[in-house]
Amino acid sequence: MDEERLIKKLIRAHGTNDPLRIAQQRNILVLYERLGKNIWGYFSNANRIPIIHINENLNRFDRLFTAAHELGHCLLHSKINTPFLRKNTLISVDRIEQEANRFALKLLIGTAQPERGETAKYFLLRCGIPKWLHSYYTEAASDSKWSKFWRDEQSFWGC
Ligand SMILES: [Zn+2]
Repeated sequence: MDEERLIKKLIRAHGTNDPLRIAQQRNILVLYERLGKNIWGYFSNANRIPIIHINENLNRFDRLFTAAHELGHCLLHSKINTPFLRKNTLISVDRIEQEANRFALKLLIGTAQPERGETAKYFLLRCGIPKWLHSYYTEAASDSKWSKFWRDEQSFWGC
């Protein structure tokens, strides 16, 4: 199932596009922890208990975006052992990171649609998406830009 369809289904099933409420309804634990300066969050599934770990120092939006990103891993990549991939095939990790980010961005936009004549910038701001994510919105901004984003950013998700 592609991300777009998965997100539509999720929002319909849970009645919200809020990643924290979706996590709660799916019995995914969300913990805020001290993760240092560079890690925004990670997803773990030890003993089959799904947990989203979020850096407690992030601002409100970055927490939400991290929750959506990790929810993406939980739903899209639950069978992939990301720490293993990270060690051995960096390219695969990049791909799943890009997928998780696209998932997060699309989830946070949710069912909102641009108004007639509304620019992408105003539409995204209306959806609460900060400017640093705007260039990743369009279809054209797919893979190459996402990987550039990962190279340029100092902060990152643990997985
Ligand atoms: Zn990730």
